[in-house]
Amino acid sequence: MTYDPDNIFARIVRGEIPCVRVYEDADTLAFMDLMPQSEGHALVIPKVAGANLLDTPPESVAAAIRTTQRVARAVQGAFAPPGLIITQFNGPVAGQTVFHLHFHVIPVYGAGGLRLHAREMAAADVLEANAARIRAALAGG
Ligand code: AMP
Repeated sequence: MTYDPDNIFARIVRGEIPCVRVYEDADTLAFMDLMPQSEGHALVIPKVAGANLLDTPPESVAAAIRTTQRVARAVQGAFAPPGLIITQFNGPVAGQTVFHLHFHVIPVYGAGGLRLHAREMAAADVLEANAARIRAALAGG
């Protein structure tokens, strides 16, 4: 798939637009999903260009998965959901809407409890409060 260097996540990596950040290292970045499917829904991306899992170098995928596990553990610690979904879509038909590889970390609080994908913007103060809980969990372990 063609990679658009001006896609929204590439612009976040370059610091051209803001995000509600929870974690960053040399290879990856994690931030809150602006239209969360549940409280604590976070995204993890590698910093390198790659439209999806198929197009991204394996070492960058590995770095993103390591960060995904780290963030997932922090989300689990912060929100104690009974379940947690990790998703990743490849191609518009599969549901992908932003064409820079990302992993969703989505806490699940009960059957049928998820909001629709990429539909409703969360309030900035709620996102910030949820990010603070994840950051605190990351700092604690
Ligand atoms: P996907 O459909 O898997 O490509 O997911 C893209 C996700 O990015 C959706 O869940 C959107 O809510 C989310 N999203 C879109 N723009 C932003 C943004 N600027 N900051 C954070 N999340 C975003």
